[in-house]
Amino acid sequence: MASEFALIARYFTRPVRRARLGVGDDCALLAVAPGMELAVSADMLVAGIHFFPGTDPRRLGHKTLAVNLSDIAAMGAAPSGALLSIALPDADEAWVKVFSEGFFALADAHGVELVGGDTTRAAPGGALVLNVTIFGEVPAGQAIRRDTAQAGDDVWVSGTLGDAALGLAALKGEVMLAAPERAFCVARLEMPSPRVGLGLALRGVAHGMLDVSDGLAGDLAHIARASKMSARLDVDALPLSAALRGQPRELALRCALAGGDDYELCFTAPVSARARVEAAGRSAGVAVTRIGSVLAGADAAPPVGYTDAAGRPLDLKLSGYDHFGGP
Ligand code: ADP
Ligand code: MG
Repeated sequence: MASEFALIARYFTRPVRRARLGVGDDCALLAVAPGMELAVSADMLVAGIHFFPGTDPRRLGHKTLAVNLSDIAAMGAAPSGALLSIALPDADEAWVKVFSEGFFALADAHGVELVGGDTTRAAPGGALVLNVTIFGEVPAGQAIRRDTAQAGDDVWVSGTLGDAALGLAALKGEVMLAAPERAFCVARLEMPSPRVGLGLALRGVAHGMLDVSDGLAGDLAHIARASKMSARLDVDALPLSAALRGQPRELALRCALAGGDDYELCFTAPVSARARVEAAGRSAGVAVTRIGSVLAGADAAPPVGYTDAAGRPLDLKLSGYDHFGGP
């Protein structure tokens, strides 16, 4: 394998425009415009935990950045820069090349500059570890937090839910899908589309927001708890792809509510903002679907109640579901 320095120079050093200083010195230097706040987040992917060893390196490069962009999107921030830290077991130079191509294709699409990172060998027998620290900017006070949902808000979600979980189940041989559905769901798992444009368009519209990475049920409960509210969710309103709609209802609901890796945005907005939410979805080119409402009352246990389209309460057994255990 080429030396660490050669790999960094060849595959991770790019000229920067926005940053004052990029890869090559002890630190990068970033300027933050007056009146802006820096949004910062880190997300780590570990082989064998978050992805299968042997995953296509181009897709892995994409996903490593995408999961971080999703966090920036979920604050309504504009992404600007990133750090990439890698522990490489035995990856060869060809692997690093293709990984970097996947990473930069998505970075370029969102105007993100790679300004630094760290590259090291994994311990003998150790897993491939990929970590991105991402930076974004948002006008001071305008970030869309998860603790600011208000009673009476609608609950919305972008895109479709559960595709990645179904893709994971297919890769593990737990469900059989026709080739087109399988390819679609596996692509949703391996190449998520971070909803950056939608997050930006929802500034000043949404009250509370987060990205759905661990299953909508748990993530909506995070918004409810953080905002000292509860929520009601109409499971018949959940946006499902054709692949999910082709599955038994029980499996589809489990994937949509308790699967992981959706990287969609779940947000709340006042009823008076419905037209503006729809317009934000159209401007970002992403479907937005109203799936429930925020209720006053912090003490509801559980914090999220489920109903069908007729408003009848449903007793869904979603607890104990482990998204690495498969649906
Ligand atoms: P130091 O020893 O000062 O920490 P390193 O040798 O770790 O420096 O890294 C040299 C330069 O390369 C630094 O600017 C660092 O930010 C950058 N760098 C290292 N690994 C990566 C990577 N995977 N992607 C982008 N930049 C990297
Ligand atoms: Mg270092």
